[in-house]
Amino acid sequence: MPQPSAACKRALADATALCSKRSRIADRLMGDAAHQKRKSDHNDGNAFDLTHDPENGVDCHFFSKLVLLDFRVSYVIWNRRIYNADKAGKGWRPYRGKNGHTHHMHVSVKAALRDIALPWPWASLES
Ligand SMILES: [Zn+2]
Repeated sequence: MPQPSAACKRALADATALCSKRSRIADRLMGDAAHQKRKSDHNDGNAFDLTHDPENGVDCHFFSKLVLLDFRVSYVIWNRRIYNADKAGKGWRPYRGKNGHTHHMHVSVKAALRDIALPWPWASLES
């Protein structure tokens, strides 16, 4: 049974440490039954979803840019756009999946870097 990666657990924990009142309603580490029917990095524990809660400090418009500074990132989906870190220079492109990711951002981490539990960029922000 795959387990959530240390990198992904750290990402959500760092957000909670920064913004203790943040909503976690759309947070996700592992895939649920629906995810398991399709290919998803959540099924391998190599992705996290972070709830958009700007009132309590987690504004994914900002966090989705900040997260691109992290070398562990494979790709990010936020607000109907996707950024693939392996296609550097191409920037954000339209994402036309059924779920527009307007209430949470999705971050996939590179499988080879999943065990690296270094702080995420938002860990150095001040609350
Ligand atoms: Zn996701």
